[in-house]
This record gives sequence, structure tokens and C-alpha cells, in this order.
Amino acid sequence: LLWIRQGRLPPPPDAVVWPGSEEEVQAVIRLCRARRIAVIPFGAGSGVCGGTVAVKGGIALDMKRLEAVGTVDPQRRCVDVQAGVLGEVLERSLNAQGWTLGHFPSSIYMSTLGGWLAARSAGQLSSRYGKIEDMVLSVRAVSGAGELLVTPERPFRGPDLAQLLVGSEGTLCAFTGARLRVHPAPEARALRGYRFNRVSEGVEAIRVLMRAGLRPAVVRLYDPFDTALVARSRPHPSPTPPSMRGTWKSDTVPFLLRQISRHALSRPILLNRAAGALRRCLLVTMFEGEGARTRKEDEQARILCTQRGAVDLGEEPGLHWLKERYSVSYKMSKLVDSGALADTMEVAATWDKVMDVYERVRAAAASIAFVLCHFSHAYPEGCSLYFSFALSDVSEQAQERRYDALWRTALSAARSAGATVSHHHGVGLLKSAALREELGEGVVLLDRLKRALDPDGIMNPSKLWAVP
Ligand SMILES: Cc1cc2nc3c(=O)[nH]c(=O)nc-3n(C[C@H](O)[C@H](O)[C@H](O)COP(=O)(O)OP(=O)(O)OC[C@H]3O[C@@H](n4cnc5c(N)ncnc54)[C@H](O)[C@@H]3O)c2cc1C
Repeated sequence: LLWIRQGRLPPPPDAVVWPGSEEEVQAVIRLCRARRIAVIPFGAGSGVCGGTVAVKGGIALDMKRLEAVGTVDPQRRCVDVQAGVLGEVLERSLNAQGWTLGHFPSSIYMSTLGGWLAARSAGQLSSRYGKIEDMVLSVRAVSGAGELLVTPERPFRGPDLAQLLVGSEGTLCAFTGARLRVHPAPEARALRGYRFNRVSEGVEAIRVLMRAGLRPAVVRLYDPFDTALVARSRPHPSPTPPSMRGTWKSDTVPFLLRQISRHALSRPILLNRAAGALRRCLLVTMFEGEGARTRKEDEQARILCTQRGAVDLGEEPGLHWLKERYSVSYKMSKLVDSGALADTMEVAATWDKVMDVYERVRAAAASIAFVLCHFSHAYPEGCSLYFSFALSDVSEQAQERRYDALWRTALSAARSAGATVSHHHGVGLLKSAALREELGEGVVLLDRLKRALDPDGIMNPSKLWAVP
């Protein structure tokens, strides 16, 4: 976005192709193999780590014509779906049959099943339904050698071949489809908000809740400044699909912008200090599923949270979150349009490290960008930390330097505190050097896998663990 604002374009592919069948995907990949042309599988382009940038030119393999959604098998609770289908279309089609996938990334209007599989996507309800890798029973894909791969369906014995491919970000194969687990549409929902006096108390409550065996669909803790923004943001009329964004009125200037001037963003240390004086933070929970169990789990969570000093705010904060859950991402892009910069960094850590990661990233980035964070996608073992950064500088060039410094500093602080490189946005170009370091000797195994599945190295070069 920064480059586009400067009139520079990321390296474009030499051509775009839209295969209409698995056979056509095979034909394109075989042709590219014979001519040593790079292939960049492309879903909807919503990836935020540069995964579809054509660093070596080549062909963008746009999968969106492969969009069929099958009929749900109610006995086995699964459905066959082609990889190019947009998330929103898939979920609507399942809802019409009385089912849900349970996968709701904020980018649901503009991301595809193939992109989710490639980048190990997580939806907002992942604490209950899992990430995409937990939903997939088998995958269909065309390897860089041009072979059709169909993995055995779960449950099975031996190595999980689907999981060898999931997360490969276009570097091993192009996904053409998957068999996915589905769930009956939830009968009931229970939403609630809690106020904690400290971030650490909220984090501890999530840990206790997950360790007690509760499975909230949503458990989301905003740090104090994020809480202040969430609480004061005006409701957005309704989630707006990208196709309708041009129709927005000018009064939808993002809330953040109205509160924080570009001038203040260029001296973020003061803003960060001011934010540091705030203490109260908001936890939002949502349980869903069968009626009686949902109510019981909500009540158990209420007891656990209030025992840890939380104030029960009732269902309003949860309803507000549910209504606004897709709008915040669009507000971020408006911030970019205004001349400032915004970006997000999601990492994950085990419970013993979560607070350290939070503190160290905030401290490291404080002089470069204004920093907000929320904690979500919880597991019995740990959770994801989702940092939002806003920054500005005197010129576009200075902003770019500041942006690069931010990424170097923030990611290195997160990793030195024991966080993973990524939780659900993938790796792409942005985090490939860091992933290489994190993988250590694992790189050797991946290089071998790459040679086996993509002998001529045509699939999405320079991405993920910086494959040659
Ligand atoms: C506003 C916004 C909000 C977001 N919110 C979330 C969120 O809540 N959760 C989340 O997980 N992510 C989120 N993302 C990130 C992004 O939506 C995900 O990474 C998503 O999985 C990308 O899907 P896509 O179809 O757009 O893939 P693309 O951006 O087109 O591609 C991403 C990567 O996947 C590869 N790829 C795409 N299709 C295939 C295929 N068929 N076979 C093999 N490789 C393929 C590409 O080569 C590339 O490396 C968000 C992004 C934005 C812009």
C-alpha cells in the first residue's frame, strides 16, 4: 500500500491465468515446468505478507474459477469444496444447507479456501472450531511436478500427508480443493464482556478458562488503549463487502484518525506513554452451540472471571463486537489512505511467555509506532497476540524507513521473548528470514520436500523459508 501510494508497483507477474478445472491447473504447471517459468498460486490477494508478489515474474495462477461447493454429507458431516471459492460464498452456501464451517477470518469477504490452506488461516471463532488445518479432512492439490495429489481422509494411519502441504504458501503445490469438516448451525449463543484492572489479570483469566476445558468460540482481550478505542467506536452500519466500499460516505473517517493526528503519530513515544497510564481492559467472550451447554459454559466462564476480579459488563460489549467484527479492517485501510501507515503483526506464545512478549514488543516499538494489542485465538497451551501499529513521518521515504525499522524491531523483540514468527497471517516475503532462523535444521528437511514436489523450483520462489 505504501508503494502504491508512492506510485511504485510491487513486481507484477508476466501473465495471469484462470484455470477452470484441475486438469487445466495441471496443464499450466506442466507447461511452466517445461519452460522453467515461475508459478504463483493466487487466491484473492488478501495475504498481508507479500506471498503473491511475483519477485521473479512468471504466471499468477488465479484459482477463483474453481469455486464449486458440494452438498454436505450429514452422516459424515463433511463437504467437498474447490479451492478458489471466496469465504463468504462458502459460508453462505453451507448456511443455506443448515451447516457452518466455523471459519470467520476478518477477510472472509476477500479470501479463498486455497489461501486459507496455504497460509494456515484462523477465523475469529477458532478457539471453538480450530484453525483451517483442524477443519481439513483431506486436500487435492497439483504439485510443482504437475502431479495430482489427493491425500487420505482423516482418520487414517501413518503420516498426515495433508498437513505436509497445508501452510506451504504456494511453494510446493496449488490446492485445487479440500474435504472439510462442518458443524450444525449453532442453536444458541451467549455473549458477555468483562472489565479487568490489568492486562495480566485478563490473560490469566483466559488461561484458566481454557485449562478448565471451556471452549469459547470467542475469547478476546483488548489491552487498555485498544479497549478505549473499541468502547468508543461508533457502530458501523453493517459489514460492507469490498465491492461496495466505493459507496462509503466521507463521514466514515476512521475513528483512530479522528482521535490521533498524524503529527502525534510521528512522535509515538508520547502516545505510548499516555496509553501506558490506562489500566482497564475489556475481555469479550462468546459461547455457541447447543442451548443448555452454551448457557452452562457461559456461567462457568462468568464465575472463573469474576473470581479473578473481573466486573461482568453483561452482553452489550459482546453484541457490539459481533456487529463490528469485520469493519475494523476497513478502517485500517482508510488510515493508510489518509497518509499515515497502519499494520498488524500476529504472533503466538505459550502462557509462560505471553506477558513478556507483550511487554517487550511494546517497549521495543514505542519510539517508532503507536502500539495496540489484543489477545485471541486461545488454546490450553497459550494464545495469539495481535499487535496493531500506527505510524507517520515527514516524507514517504522516511515513513518507509520507519516501517522497515518497526518490523525488524518488533518481530525480533517478539522472537527474543519466545514467540513464534506467525500465528495465522502466514510468512510470505515479510517474515521469511525470521522463519528460516526459527526452523534451524528443519530447513534441510523442507529443502528435500521442495525438491521432491517441485523439482524445478517453479512454485512461488523466494517465499516462506526463502526457498531459492
Ligand atoms: C483486512 C484483512 C483481514 C484479515 N484477517 C484475517 C483473519 O482474521 N485471519 C486470517 O487467517 N487471515 C487474515 N487476513 C490475511 C489473509 O486474508 C489470509 O492470509 C488468507 O488466508 C489469504 O487468502 P487469499 O485467498 O486472499 O490468498 P492470497 O493472498 O491470494 O495468497 C496468500 C498465499 O497463499 C498462496 N495461495 C493462494 N491460493 C492458493 C492455492 N489455491 N494453492 C496454493 N497456494 C495458494 C499464495 O501463493 C500466497 O502465498 C486478513 C487480511 C486482510 C487484508
